[in-house]
Amino acid sequence: MGEFELIERVFARRAAAVPPRAGIALGIGDDCALLAAPPPETQLAVSTDMLVEGRHFFPEVAPNALGHKALAVNLSDLAAMGAEPLAFTLALALPPERARDADWLDAFADGLMALAQAYRCALIGGDTTAGPLAISITVFGYLPRGQALRRDGARAGDDLWVSGALGDARLALEALRNRIVLSPAQQAQARQRLERPTPRIALGQALRGVASSCIDLSDGLAGDLGHVLHASDVGARINADVVASLLQTPAPVTAQQRYAYTLAGGDDYELIFTAPPNRRAQVETAARQAATPVTRIGGITAMPGLALHDAAGRALAGSFAGFDHFA
Ligand code: ADP
Ligand code: MG
Repeated sequence: MGEFELIERVFARRAAAVPPRAGIALGIGDDCALLAAPPPETQLAVSTDMLVEGRHFFPEVAPNALGHKALAVNLSDLAAMGAEPLAFTLALALPPERARDADWLDAFADGLMALAQAYRCALIGGDTTAGPLAISITVFGYLPRGQALRRDGARAGDDLWVSGALGDARLALEALRNRIVLSPAQQAQARQRLERPTPRIALGQALRGVASSCIDLSDGLAGDLGHVLHASDVGARINADVVASLLQTPAPVTAQQRYAYTLAGGDDYELIFTAPPNRRAQVETAARQAATPVTRIGGITAMPGLALHDAAGRALAGSFAGFDHFA
């Protein structure tokens, strides 16, 4: 399959099968896609995330899951701002043996486009080149002007909340690396979280006007929360036992592993957000509307830094900094 046949047969055809939506004047096929100017009082949210083989995924990962995850991690950034998905572009570097493998390409594109359909996010263009397998997606979304959920809005006294489950993706990674032994059922449950994360799009939108700050969790709770604390010039106190209880897979892990996976595991793609205590009912309503569970794990403090305590209120030692690609 040549480059143009590949683009047409694998991507353009699937993109054309997604019902067109207002806002996209021209999709795949010309030198540029054309987006209509955003409606009045609307801002365009834009984000790019890249996945590189060997760094973000194993070479043998199922191609359908890879397509899903490549878009899911980008949609997660829109979710973290409270934006509504509109469109995305796909830049793909493919080793020659992948470019020749129609089954692999079809499965990758199916995984990608199933998620695109589910969130009405149109594939409007991209680039395809030979090279080591790498997938770079740029997403575009809409936000009512001034209502983005930013990192710099946390205030001392705010509650600290997290959506969904934590640590299962890291648990799957440890099992894949043979550092921990799981039953087939446990392995399947944890791998689902590693390979097919759910972007919390509905929750992000429901939290507009409710949350004071928000970030999505890609590199681990402690590290990603650190970005919010830094941007907002505040600190936080976290009940580490509540966080540890958010590991979903019933796995034979030690208390220390449970803390490490949930506080610093990475690849969770949940939202961590803050809101004043007088908005607890509104947070619960947003969570119900979005059909996404949320848990209050602590609060924001004027004193900088991240303080961890256990269920009995005892301070926990140990550092749970997030994953840094260059560290
Ligand atoms: P150019 O030479 O101008 O970069 P290309 O030949 O790379 O154009 O792409 C032709 C068309 O196909 C463009 O509209 C481009 O956006 C689209 N395209 C290329 N690769 C992809 C891809 N992986 N997914 C979706 N659209 C793509
Ligand atoms: Mg090109």
